[in-house]
Amino acid sequence: MTTADTSANSWGSLDELASAMRSCTKCALHQTRTNAVPGSGSPNAEILIIGEGPGFNEDEQGLPFVGRSGKLLDELLAAVPLSRDDIFITNVVKCRPPDNRDPLPDEVAACRPYLERQLQLLNPKVIVTLGRVSMLRYYPEGKISEDHGKILEWEGRILFPLYHPAAGLRNPAIKRELQKDVLKLPEALRASTNSANNSSPSEKNKEPNINRP
Ligand code: URA
Ligand code: SF4
Repeated sequence: MTTADTSANSWGSLDELASAMRSCTKCALHQTRTNAVPGSGSPNAEILIIGEGPGFNEDEQGLPFVGRSGKLLDELLAAVPLSRDDIFITNVVKCRPPDNRDPLPDEVAACRPYLERQLQLLNPKVIVTLGRVSMLRYYPEGKISEDHGKILEWEGRILFPLYHPAAGLRNPAIKRELQKDVLKLPEALRASTNSANNSSPSEKNKEPNINRP
């Protein structure tokens, strides 16, 4: 098990990575957490869903999306249909920001090697970001109100930004957008297969750009 070494490539497995997060003190969020929330789901998932940060229930249980947002997310996935066993789900920061505030830029930066290693180890075809903070990590120029539900590309993978379920709980119009957008997930998966067929891996890796549709 790796404890002191926190360079991005030093964790050999998702379990090792989760242990490192649980003992991590790299940003101030460790001071107020009950449990770090590394993420959960299938290690073979083709879809990686990335939320913003754990909330109250997630911090209590050490599991992602187990509160009201998680219930809405499960309903959205069921309509596709997909279950938690078909995906892997995590957050931009692995420890709860106090009072559910947005994570600060230095907290996002401190936590970034964990998310990067999760992405390497899982190697998903599609990255689904939930909400603005998560989308900006992959698409800094993006606007969630314009780009939600678009099938984009990021470093050879499909990037599929969605509104955050918590926004859907607050606003019925956003919930309807989420219900509509999530049904495009099979199309996003197909798009990843097409882009894999149409270019060699080396060509794809040289394209770190976002292709607007
Ligand atoms: N909201 C998030 O962004 N992540 C969770 O895990 C729960 C709620
Ligand atoms: Fe470490 Fe990330 Fe938790 Fe900060 S949020 S203490 S960087 S695991």
